[in-house]
Amino acid sequence: MSVIELSSRGCLKSLKGVVSSGKEARVYWGKGKDNRDLAVKIYLTLTSEFRRSMIKYLAGDPRFDEYRGLSPKKLIYIWARKEFSNLNRMFSAGIRVPEPLCLEKNVLVMEFIGYDGKRAPLLKEAYEMGELSIDDLEKIYWWVIEAIRKMVKDAGLVHGDLSEYNIMIFEESPVIIDVSQAVSIDHPNSREFLKQDIYNITRFFSKAGVDVEEPSTILSDLLEIN
Ligand code: ATP
Ligand code: MN
Repeated sequence: MSVIELSSRGCLKSLKGVVSSGKEARVYWGKGKDNRDLAVKIYLTLTSEFRRSMIKYLAGDPRFDEYRGLSPKKLIYIWARKEFSNLNRMFSAGIRVPEPLCLEKNVLVMEFIGYDGKRAPLLKEAYEMGELSIDDLEKIYWWVIEAIRKMVKDAGLVHGDLSEYNIMIFEESPVIIDVSQAVSIDHPNSREFLKQDIYNITRFFSKAGVDVEEPSTILSDLLEIN
């Protein structure tokens, strides 16, 4: 089992509670060396709908050409590896994502975003709980736009599922999560994904009362830079 493998590699000492239980993946709070808090994302299954969309994301990405004809189990391993590789690329480019630590088959170990096993709120949750002032929201908005730009320019990636559900607010700053579906800017659909990301972010912040930039302006600025 991958968890045992990870503990013998010194990546993981123990698994504590469940942080989130989704359809395809479960995220646990774990402990590592020196009692460090960890987030352990375990990919469980792929629904057929997910598998179809996955193929859409993987097809044409030169890094993951070998997905064709693989068993569902191997596809999950590739998907976990894709998230790990995307996290590494973003983290190295200085984008605030959970620090990627270890990968073993369908299990990914990363920095825990939160304190004492209590995860930080998602942007959506922090907003709905009234924790964010309009000034905070405006700052976070520009930070997210800058993160999108860094992703494209410095990491060569487009997130592809960016929204208030995949941004956590930790120590007053946004942390971008859930990057398994992120694609290389060489991907044939990367422009479409980028447009969607910018659209989602614009919609959320504009509803929240932030004076947002026109999404088409952001997009064309971004594409000109490249
Ligand atoms: P979902 O379908 O619920 O969005 P997912 O498969 O997309 O699940 P993620 O979005 O990566 O998986 O993680 C699910 C949830 O687990 C997040 O919404 C967040 O609450 C929590 N989580 C993810 N990564 C971390 C982390 N590094 N530290 C703390 N909590 C995390
Ligand atoms: Mn998510």
